[in-house]
Amino acid sequence: MVNAFTYLDNQLHAERVPASMLAEQYGTPLYVYSRAALTDAYRSYADACTGRRAKVHFAVKANSNLAVLSVFVRLGAGFDIVSGGELARVLAAGGKPNDVVFSGVGKSAAEMRIALDMGGCCFNIESLAELEHLNQVASESGRIAPISLRVNPDVDVKTHQYISTGLKSTKFGVAFDDARATYRAALGMKYLRITGIDCHIGSQITEISPYLNAIDKILELVVQVESDGALIQHIDIGGGLGIRYHDETPPNIGMFVKTILDHFTQRGHSHREIWFEPGRSLVGNAGILLTRVEYLKPGPVKNFAIVDAAMNDLIRPAMYNAYHTVDAVTPRNNQPLVTYDIVGPVCESGDWLARDRPFILETGDLLAIRSVGAYGFAISSNYNSRPRAAELLVDGAQVHVARQRETITKLMDGELVLPDYI
Ligand SMILES: *Cc1c(COP(=O)(O)O)cnc(C)c1O
Repeated sequence: MVNAFTYLDNQLHAERVPASMLAEQYGTPLYVYSRAALTDAYRSYADACTGRRAKVHFAVKANSNLAVLSVFVRLGAGFDIVSGGELARVLAAGGKPNDVVFSGVGKSAAEMRIALDMGGCCFNIESLAELEHLNQVASESGRIAPISLRVNPDVDVKTHQYISTGLKSTKFGVAFDDARATYRAALGMKYLRITGIDCHIGSQITEISPYLNAIDKILELVVQVESDGALIQHIDIGGGLGIRYHDETPPNIGMFVKTILDHFTQRGHSHREIWFEPGRSLVGNAGILLTRVEYLKPGPVKNFAIVDAAMNDLIRPAMYNAYHTVDAVTPRNNQPLVTYDIVGPVCESGDWLARDRPFILETGDLLAIRSVGAYGFAISSNYNSRPRAAELLVDGAQVHVARQRETITKLMDGELVLPDYI
């Protein structure tokens, strides 16, 4: 795996560009992505699929920036989307409807219609009600919708409860025990064409065994629904492969893919087309967030380094208690280390980015928060009326502005003060 963010002469670089130069020129907080890291992660999937009928759909929700999407379009990726907005982004980046899988538990009629009118995109259906709804919308549009059912294989993946999705108790997928009947129902619906089966068991999964367990259950079902007359052309095993944030030891991508594909072969299903829907493992370690120290605030219990990035820019620590490595952009070594909590300016105690980290810091220093390429900017908000950060994509010595820093004026777009006559 390419580490695109390394030190050269005691200066953190994004590929060949000093991070301090980027912060100087584009301001902070600043998301910086490495094209080499994105490419390397995608190739790890694609190379391991060579010679097999397999396809990689990037889960757009992890990072939906158009520049990032266009890197994947050029590499030949497909896309897993969960909304009409994501569909529009994929098309704007040059993606093709044929390479799109439409997931999500609550697709609206409008979203279904747009996707149907474009044609080609496969719907992952998550309930009987949604199946009936899609059949209805497709009949009105005079189209046949390709579908697969997202089945919940009820396997425990031992990850954070908010990102575990394959258990009976989650809102996702058709319950395993109902899946056969739901496929039978789909067979009777005139405007649907069954093309495959899908599951997605969670996120930040660092072991392969839950996938193998899920696959065994899914294959059991595949045999049953094919005996009922459905044709399962593809098996989508979802995304969820974890990355290293701190001390996790996830399998590397190539080994993960090979193990999965070999498992299908061992079970006598090498003829199936296998789809992957990775998000985090494609983009997570391809991004850093640069932030500047505004104030140092020593205290009786804790020392705080108050920086200009906050929970609105990166909510993973607050939301999932997530650990992100934080490094000084230009490390100092002339004084003893002091332990700091790295916190933002937002008025919430939950506004922290890292806890108990040893540093030698001075006001104005730059920090790099690592592994923020997935679910970083994508979940950012304007809380506390903070404009969203700029995003850059670095390619060697070239810098591309992937998203301009949001302006205060733009924050108020579409809002109206109360007129005098009310
Ligand atoms: C979120 C999601 C993914 C991607 O998950 P990662 O953990 O980022 O790999 C894939 N498929 C579906 C249906 C999802 O909801």
